[in-house]
Formats: sequence, structure tokens, C-alpha cells
Amino acid sequence: MKIEVVTIGDELLLGYTVDTNAAHLARTLAAEGVEIERRTTCGDTAESIATAVRDALDRTGAVITTGGLGPTSDDLTKPSIAALFGRTMVLDEEHLAWMQERWRARFQRAMPESNRQQAMLPSGARKLVNNHGSAPGIWLEDDRGRWVAMLPGVPREMRGMLSDTLLPLVRERAGTGGRVVRSRTLRTTGIGESHIADLVATIDGGVGDVGLAYLPNADGTDLRLTVRDVAPSDADARLAAAADRLRTVVADAMYGEDGADLADVVLALCRRHAITVGVAESCTGGMLGARLTAVPGSSDIVRGGVIAYDDAVKQSLLGVSPDQIREHGAVSEPVVRAMASGIRAALGVGAALAITGIAGPDGGSADKPVGTVWIALDLGGDVQARRFAMVGDRAEIRHRSAQAALEMLRRRLLDGVRVAR
Ligand code: AMP
Ligand code: MG
Repeated sequence: MKIEVVTIGDELLLGYTVDTNAAHLARTLAAEGVEIERRTTCGDTAESIATAVRDALDRTGAVITTGGLGPTSDDLTKPSIAALFGRTMVLDEEHLAWMQERWRARFQRAMPESNRQQAMLPSGARKLVNNHGSAPGIWLEDDRGRWVAMLPGVPREMRGMLSDTLLPLVRERAGTGGRVVRSRTLRTTGIGESHIADLVATIDGGVGDVGLAYLPNADGTDLRLTVRDVAPSDADARLAAAADRLRTVVADAMYGEDGADLADVVLALCRRHAITVGVAESCTGGMLGARLTAVPGSSDIVRGGVIAYDDAVKQSLLGVSPDQIREHGAVSEPVVRAMASGIRAALGVGAALAITGIAGPDGGSADKPVGTVWIALDLGGDVQARRFAMVGDRAEIRHRSAQAALEMLRRRLLDGVRVAR
């Protein structure tokens, strides 16, 4: 079964409200094996609502809308869709009485007159119970079995009504026979999407008939595998087989699955090797420390760090020499190495990470353009340093730098494991 979603509201078109309802509907329905064929967003006029819903109905005969069910003049969803179905609006006495009682009980006063509007329903409509607000949802169906389900715009109410009331109805219609859409995401970092695509091309038979999406972001490139319209037991087996194939080529670049956080992964490795961590940060200004300490239980691994933003701090707290800065600049290999070793000595940690770079938008030069970042790792006195050319704006460069530092430590510890074996 295919469904279309129409989200209604000027605030969505203007970009002031992000359309989280459409995303939630898509994820929830996909998990039920129901595919969303198309999404439309329209403004709060009767004309645009009617056009969007009529077109969607013509294509699939099954439409879910959100928004425009409130008591105010911009809430036109019900009358415009009622008109499409050739229905009049009638007062639902039962719902009116329920609302009046609710106002008395909850707010100790009479219901505002404008709320009467919420008790006006298209004739022949089925009410969808709203356990989280006062506007009921509405199910309208014509004699050909084409239907529109109208849900409130407020995300919490929409989600509640979807799971409490609408999903069982959709399940009944869809008769998906338990078939599902399921995804699995492998998270990689330090390797570009085109590079990964080249590697995937070397797999004999690719990832089979499983869908593969490349999702580049500031953490790295996520690889999402998706199977559609399959039995739940099949779904997991097919995803696992495809994930195994992918893993053979992306190998160590993969640090986890689904919602995995690199800081969390790194801390787990440190814990396994009983290694404490310290950081010295210039251009990231504490982001690396924040990433690490955001993980619950990090206090047994993370000792602390220094935000060495100013050159004077690099010298006084980390022991970087004025000569190194004068000769090579603050963004240079000798300085980042000295920063890493300086913080390791100061804190007495096993592993020290240091970052110095040019996050922009100013401060770049021909030989050190914006995005030039040096990162060093001092692991028990063994120092390695690497120059990066980060892309993106200031926020992305800083985020990528913290991520790259975590990755440097992760890779080093992985290698360590191999050596130990
Ligand atoms: P409405 O039911 O149209 O009166 O919407 C009530 C409130 O819900 C709006 O002010 C928005 O903040 C929010 N809202 C409406 N539609 C959406 C949507 N598609 N995604 C997220 N929030 C929404
Ligand atoms: Mg609205």
C-alpha cells in the first residue's frame, strides 16, 4: 500500500517550523511496511489544501494530513477536505459537550466560543481519539474506499494519535501481511563517499538487492542499507549479509552502527586498554573535551585538558617554545606535537590529543588556507602528527577536527590491539 502525506501550515512553507511530522510519519509507517509515495507541504488556504489533497488522493487514494485542525481562522483543513468529499460540516454535540466539560474540569472556566469550531466535523466522518489535546483527528472515506486521515499539527498530539488510533486503522487497510521496511546504518569516518563508492564497486555482486544510500555529514559518511517489502525475519538476514559485504571493504573506517558516537567508541577502547586521556585544544576551543565528557562514565578515562587558544597559553601551560611558534607558526607540526606532549606531561595521562588549526573565516594564507588543521596524538611518549585540509564553514571545520582527533586515537588503539596479539 502506498500513502501520501500532506503537511499543512504557512510556518512550514516559510521555514520557521521544521517539518518533523512528515519525518515521524515516514519512519513510523515504513516500520509497518507502508511506503510513503510522496510528501507535499502546503499553506493555510482552503484552495491550496484542497488542491494538494485532491492530487494526492488521485494518485494513491490514501492520504494523511497534519495541521490546521485548531480553533482559529487559519485552521481550514476540515472544511476544505469536507468539500472535496462533497460533505457539509455538522456540529458533533457529543464532542462539544466533552470539550465544555474538559474546560470546566481543567481550567475552571467556560470554553472559549472559538473552540466550538473543533466540534464541527464533516458529515459521515469518523473521529480519531486525541488523548493529548482537544481537537479530534478525522477519518473521511468515500464509497470507493479512498480515505483521508487528518491529524493535528502539534507534534506531540500527532504522534500520540498516530500510535493510539490511526496505525491500527492503517494496518487494517494496508494488509501488509507483516512485511516491513527496515534499515541499518554503518558509520564511517576519515574516508570520502566517492572513495567508498569505488571500494563498493569492487565487491562482486555489490551489496545484493539491498538499497545503499551514502549520507555524508560532519561526522563522516554514513552508509544506510535498506530492505523494503520483506518479512521481518528475512529483513534482518538480508541486512546482515549486506553489512558483512560492506564491512569487508570499508574495514577500519567503520566505527559503529546506527546512532554510534565516536567519542563513546574511543572511550570504550581506552577503558579496555586502561589508558587515561587528556586534551589540548586551540581552534576547537573545548569541543573535543565536550565530546568526550558528554559520554556518561567518562570520568574514569578523561583527566582534563587545556583550551590553549592564545599563543601565550600554549607556552605557559603546555610548554610550547616561543621559537617554535615564531619559526613555524601556531598551526604547525612542531607546535601540535609540543602541545600533545605538554598536556600529557602536565596531566600524567596515557594518551594526549592536541588540535591547532585555522577555522576561519579569516586567518587563512596561501600555504595555510582556512581548514588547515594539525592534530597530534602522544601515546605514552610515541607522538604522531597529521595535517588535515578540512572543508566546510567554521562550525564544520571545528566539528570535523574534534572528530578527526578522536579517530586518530581510535585507529592507534586498534593498531595497538593488533600488535599486542
Ligand atoms: P496547527 O495544528 O496547524 O495549528 O499547528 C499547531 C502547531 O504545531 C504549529 O504552531 C507548529 O508549531 C506545529 N506544527 C504544525 N505542523 C507541523 C509539522 N508538520 N511539523 C512540526 N510541527 C508542526
Ligand atoms: Mg496551522
